[in-house]
Amino acid sequence: MLLGSTCIVYILLTGIHCTSGFVHTWGYHHGVMPKRWGVLYSTCEGKHQSPIDIRKRDVVYDQNLQLFNLNDLDRIDDVMAKLENNGHSVVVHLSDKRLRVTGGSLPGAYNVSQFHFHWGSVNSQGSEHKINGRHSSMEMHLVMHSDKFKSVKEAMNTTNGLAVLGFFIDVGDYNDEFESIIRNLRNIQHKNDSVIIKALSLTDLFPQTTYYYRYSGSLTTPPCYESVIWTVFVNHIYISQYQLDQFHSLGKNHFKGSEDLINNYRNPQPLNGRRVTTNVRLLYGES
Ligand SMILES: [Zn+2]
Repeated sequence: MLLGSTCIVYILLTGIHCTSGFVHTWGYHHGVMPKRWGVLYSTCEGKHQSPIDIRKRDVVYDQNLQLFNLNDLDRIDDVMAKLENNGHSVVVHLSDKRLRVTGGSLPGAYNVSQFHFHWGSVNSQGSEHKINGRHSSMEMHLVMHSDKFKSVKEAMNTTNGLAVLGFFIDVGDYNDEFESIIRNLRNIQHKNDSVIIKALSLTDLFPQTTYYYRYSGSLTTPPCYESVIWTVFVNHIYISQYQLDQFHSLGKNHFKGSEDLINNYRNPQPLNGRRVTTNVRLLYGES
């Protein structure tokens, strides 16, 4: 998952050459790389980090995992959606308190804040989570905060303060539901560019949401707080090769400040004894 970038003054002793007073930010290909995020944010070196590689043979069936209630996300007419290039990803901001998710064995109701994408440079990489060691081409994260808090910012350093719904995206048929996003990518090619897009129904973007994996983890971007209840859905979203290529090409334009808009994913982190559960009864043996 991904939040707005934060500038902090770089401190020496890191082993990375820099000029005193120079301001460094985290990044995937510029600034401080993922393996060194812990230098800027010690929380990125925690023991319950995300993403992870979900090994099906180690996943535990939990018959108590409930279905989600996503009915509020059908709302389409009057929800303002703002598409933004924040320098690290393409984000759709949806600040509407009526977009609530319940069920899914979450501890209470969660309010949708935004969704964003992670992608690669080729089809065989791009997702943050892996299944049995394999990437999907992209991953979409719907970021929500507990309704006990007013915002993601307020909730993001509290256990279970955030919940993220993760969806794998792979190449298949043309997907009309993503067209209002993809068609507008050309309008946000510079960092901090944004554009209001046609209101969209979130559930139309989703695949079937009955089956999922569940574990406790973190933000996948600095400050990597371990406050996230992760749901990674079993069913994938499909878009066409042409549609995927529109994301691939964003990072090739080399606009200043947009170097991160390709391969903008963090690699899987150690499980460190965490348990991944699922409501799929028979996982072992599936490919
Ligand atoms: Zn993300």
